Amino acid sequence: MRNLLPVFMVSLLLAGCGQSEAPVTAAGEGQQAAVAEEGALVVYSARKEHLIKPLFDLFTEQTGIAVSYITDSAGPLLARLQAEGENTPADMLITVDAGNLWQAQKVGVLSPVNSPVLTANVPVHLRDPSDSWFALTIRARTIVYASDRVNPAQDLSSYEALAEPQWRGRLCLRTSKKVYNQSLVATMIAAQGGPATEAIVSGWVANLAMDPFANDTKVMEAIAAGQCDVGIVNTYYYGRLIKKQPQLALALFWPNQIGEGAVGRGTHVNISGAGVTAHSRQKARAQQLLEWLSAEQAQVMLMELNREAAVNPRVAPLPDMLAWGDFKADAVAVSEAGRLQVAAVKLMDRAGYR
Ligand code: FE
Repeated sequence: MRNLLPVFMVSLLLAGCGQSEAPVTAAGEGQQAAVAEEGALVVYSARKEHLIKPLFDLFTEQTGIAVSYITDSAGPLLARLQAEGENTPADMLITVDAGNLWQAQKVGVLSPVNSPVLTANVPVHLRDPSDSWFALTIRARTIVYASDRVNPAQDLSSYEALAEPQWRGRLCLRTSKKVYNQSLVATMIAAQGGPATEAIVSGWVANLAMDPFANDTKVMEAIAAGQCDVGIVNTYYYGRLIKKQPQLALALFWPNQIGEGAVGRGTHVNISGAGVTAHSRQKARAQQLLEWLSAEQAQVMLMELNREAAVNPRVAPLPDMLAWGDFKADAVAVSEAGRLQVAAVKLMDRAGYR
């Protein structure tokens, strides 16, 4: 029984990162000139330039509307929007993780958008309840395992099962400071409540082979090196590593596919997404860009650029992404990752997950 919830199937994969570590970049004649350009839409993007520029170029070609942008990590961009207040030049914020988008909405830097196009193109569980942000792509945070030491059919089933004693000293995790893990735990709280989730996270901590790592790639490198046997990562990091080192004995497993209730809720997915800023002086045109990004042509480009899944249900997965196989995704509203983020952080702290 896996169809009690409005389940949606996604097939996704590989590559396409989230936040940028790069310093501020700008289109055109340099950052200040770009931001000051008359009439251009200004986008603050936590996605890297190579993931957004081709889209903006095509949008400009088709509409005549210029787009300028700066890229930075999510935190600094949000702080900048808050500091600039009504004087911000930004018309749109693009970032990764529903937790970050939820935070942006909460501090008031986004504006609700009433758009039949967006409500048709972005499923309700992948947008803000007040329509202040909308997902643009979907990525899964799933289980990765040592394919030479773990038998997935026999050993793997759910995120929760990684807390069982058979994994003692065999689990590697990324730090709980990363919003990806905060969102994962927040959706576990949504699925089964705080006490059950805390018992699971405590079990994870008891099973750790070593201290949590700074990033997903280090988790996989530790598994490949035999320091642990199983971990939790975003699909695109796996794709990137395997592309570079195809000989690594690593494979992905889609957890929580079978069973009723919380255990069968589906694999955790998160999003990249965008919203129109609260103080944009050209909200109609910003909305036009947002709608354009959710439509078929841009969605196909996003899949090709990022190896993430489209949010628009009318856009078919790319053939190579289908080859990776379909899985059932958790249909919980991704906004829950934001609403329960503080609870998740406190829970992980109590459980000793650093
Ligand atoms: Fe990332």
